[in-house]
Amino acid sequence: MLRDVQNWARFPRSRSIVIPVTSPDQPLPFNELGVSFLPFGMGRSLGDSCLNDNNALLTTPAMSRVMTFDSQSGRLTAEAGITFDAIMRLSLPHGWFLPVTPGTRFVSLGGAVANDVHGKNHHCAGTFGCHVIQLMLRRSDGSRMQCSASENPEWFRATIGGLGLTGLIEWVEVQLKPVTNSWIDTETIRYRDVDEFYALNEESAARFEYVVAWVDTLSTRGLGRGIFMRGNHNTNRGPAKRQGPSGPHFSIPGVVPFSLLNRTTLKGFNNTFYWGRPHSKAATVPLGPFFYPLDSIGAYHRIYGPGGMIQWQALIPSREAVHDILKVSGSLGGSFLTVMKVMGDHPSAGLLSFSGPGATIALDFPYSRNVLEMLPRLDEIVAAAGGRLYPAKDARMSGAHFRRYYPHWQELLPFIDPRFSSSFWRRVMSPAASA
Ligand SMILES: Cc1cc2nc3c(=O)[nH]c(=O)nc-3n(C[C@H](O)[C@H](O)[C@H](O)COP(=O)(O)OP(=O)(O)OC[C@H]3O[C@@H](n4cnc5c(N)ncnc54)[C@H](O)[C@@H]3O)c2cc1C
Repeated sequence: MLRDVQNWARFPRSRSIVIPVTSPDQPLPFNELGVSFLPFGMGRSLGDSCLNDNNALLTTPAMSRVMTFDSQSGRLTAEAGITFDAIMRLSLPHGWFLPVTPGTRFVSLGGAVANDVHGKNHHCAGTFGCHVIQLMLRRSDGSRMQCSASENPEWFRATIGGLGLTGLIEWVEVQLKPVTNSWIDTETIRYRDVDEFYALNEESAARFEYVVAWVDTLSTRGLGRGIFMRGNHNTNRGPAKRQGPSGPHFSIPGVVPFSLLNRTTLKGFNNTFYWGRPHSKAATVPLGPFFYPLDSIGAYHRIYGPGGMIQWQALIPSREAVHDILKVSGSLGGSFLTVMKVMGDHPSAGLLSFSGPGATIALDFPYSRNVLEMLPRLDEIVAAAGGRLYPAKDARMSGAHFRRYYPHWQELLPFIDPRFSSSFWRRVMSPAASA
């Protein structure tokens, strides 16, 4: 039976047959249903790469056992549905943290591998896939393949950043990162424009493990002005204590009937956020608010109103193109939450990984026809600069752009499981999406 399924953006809408997977050896109806299959972790993607409209989803949150954890070496093997939150609660009291983490702790291990996620430390640590030691891939023909850099390496490379299309990842072994405690020494600095952002980044990259900026896209005073945040793990406080399950501090109770975000509310918010803090400030803060500020607001995505949100995240190799993107995005009515970071040149582990040298900018907008019509202008700037869009956050790029952004896409084809597909893949492969 088809059920409504949501990604984190609540756009696009989708209906699927939902099949919970509770253990790796559970029989799955690959040959019985006459539909395609796609693994679904925590649904924290903001596009349709985690959706399989009118087909089946293999949901993994119940396949989440820790299989082994060596508190001496920091090697952890766990089933793919486990969340980063659960890993941290286990590992931090032993002095181990995630080697790379996205901006929410509620992603699954399998989802993090399939999108080869990046974090604020990309310039030091590369992507999450760089820290995966091995994984087990289950195919629809009943075969299982252990994959690592030395065993089935081509399958390993295709599955990291493989968008869930190469099969079901059953478990993953990952090397965690040693830390002294769960505190971060941070500095926040207000900066005037995008050139100052790049200067701050240059000065920070060698000294700070974590670097990111919040950007005010509506400012008419300084293009790309914002707040630069940088941090390192604290080394002089006591060890981390055992933590209970982490939840939001408060929650948006329901989908509001209209978007709370418009140019006026955004301008007010941006001005307050930009000016409402000292020019620069140093503080030692708990790791949660530093890495996962949005997790403290439950279901924050509901403020975008009934249409949901449209996310747009690109990797942009040239500074000129970054200027152009910031100019155009201001004219789109302003993005609610704009984040910018310069990535490093650490090679990614996956065939179709998103991350690479250049700056990444993430924009988000309440759903509107106008935004949908204008975003191809941004896509084109990215294409002309030799950059790419992030499939984890996309529900609308054209097939032609996808193939230009990911010139190796054809190399993935032999690894795609014949019974697996996704709304994203059908969209970017469809001839109608080629324009
Ligand atoms: C607030 C917020 C902040 C974010 N910040 C970042 C960030 O800083 N950096 C970043 O890179 N991303 C970021 N993201 C995106 C998020 O990290 C990725 O979309 C991540 O992949 C979501 O994991 P998930 O478990 O929810 O996977 P889902 O969204 O459920 O699925 C994602 C993909 O993984 C596949 N998949 C899931 N489980 C398996 C499995 N067991 N086997 C095979 N394939 C599988 C799915 O088929 C799908 O293709 C952010 C998202 C949010 C909501």
